[in-house]
Amino acid sequence: MRYNYRYRLNPTDELHEQLAWTVDTCRQVYNHFLHRLNRENGTSAYSEQSVLPDLKNWWTDLNQVHSKVLQKVVQRLYDNRSTLKGRKDNGYRVGELKWKAPKEYRSITYSQTGFELNNTSGRTVLSLSKIGDIPIVYHRDVPDDATIKEVVVKQEPTGEWFAVLGIETEGDAPPKPKKLEDCVGIDVGILKYAHDTDGTAVERPDLSDERERLEREQRKLSHKDHGSANYRKQQRVVAKRHADLKRKRRDFLHKLSNHYAREYDLVAVEDLDVKGLMELPSNSRNRAGAAWGTFLRMLEYKCEREGTHFVAVDPAGTTKECAACGVETDKPLWVREHSCPSCGFTADRDWNAAYNILVRGLKQVGTGCPESTSSESLCDSDGLRKSHCDFRTPAETALPTETTSVPAKRVVETGSPTLKERTASAVSE
Ligand SMILES: [Zn+2]
Repeated sequence: MRYNYRYRLNPTDELHEQLAWTVDTCRQVYNHFLHRLNRENGTSAYSEQSVLPDLKNWWTDLNQVHSKVLQKVVQRLYDNRSTLKGRKDNGYRVGELKWKAPKEYRSITYSQTGFELNNTSGRTVLSLSKIGDIPIVYHRDVPDDATIKEVVVKQEPTGEWFAVLGIETEGDAPPKPKKLEDCVGIDVGILKYAHDTDGTAVERPDLSDERERLEREQRKLSHKDHGSANYRKQQRVVAKRHADLKRKRRDFLHKLSNHYAREYDLVAVEDLDVKGLMELPSNSRNRAGAAWGTFLRMLEYKCEREGTHFVAVDPAGTTKECAACGVETDKPLWVREHSCPSCGFTADRDWNAAYNILVRGLKQVGTGCPESTSSESLCDSDGLRKSHCDFRTPAETALPTETTSVPAKRVVETGSPTLKERTASAVSE
């Protein structure tokens, strides 16, 4: 399995200069190869990497940069190009690759060689070839059986340096259970952050204090002379407040996704085209703040790590459909209760949607009914709604009054929206 560990770096002034110089040299190399890319046809990352040794004959500064790092710069350019091409092929209107200005290019990558973690007299340092030994805040150990494949060294806009270690462990991901006992469908929404089939509604994290602080600093920035020393100083402060906001949000998302990945055998979510939602004119801050895309990505890799099924289903009509009989009814956003004109089933609107998501997820996985004794028995979504399946029908479980609303603060404090005893382990993330 591959994953990333992120550590804070504390370079001395001298090392800071050296790191900044290396990043900026790489930026110039990137722009150099972009220029070549625009003028010549038929180049590839591989063919361009072979140009590097000759380039060093006249661009002597490049001898001060580790060769793998330079190769990665070329790789990055061609990766960017294929990402752009992929978007174009998917029907997006795309522009061209642009020159990187200093503030748009902030990291260097060591791959395979040129780096080492060393422990000298109780202090851990990250030794980077051609740069030096950088003190690292080694807050968590790299697992013994893991190898470090890659190191990305990055300077955040706040001025802080970080190292992201790309780690690979020998073991495969744990197998996913064949028999599904605890399954959950999650509906993410605007009023509540998430609503699941177990009747838990998680409120959105309260970021208003952080946002207010950020806005205050932004106002101060607008009063400074653009480009002056004070302006740049204030820019750092604004970046710090941005980072606070981001950290608090990610903390919440990590804990919430961790809870679902650990407590369940199968997690079904909507496959949201987050980009598409963001491009809608209204409410984009709320949507961006909700960071659903990040939540889903976290949930996906955590499920992989914990051996939990993760299914993203087509979200079309999940709120309209009746969980009990499947008949679709139109519902405006302000109607908070689902009441079926066809079968008379009533439930909380979001619970109804979460249930439909779970049904679709189970159908997609095709493993069988949750809580049924024969693990291999296949049943379609209609089968789930009938009594031959042990799965509780919505009418038995879902009463809107069962919904427990959990403030986001409690998720952050306990790492679990339901405060189960088992969650002590979930907090450790
Ligand atoms: Zn119905």
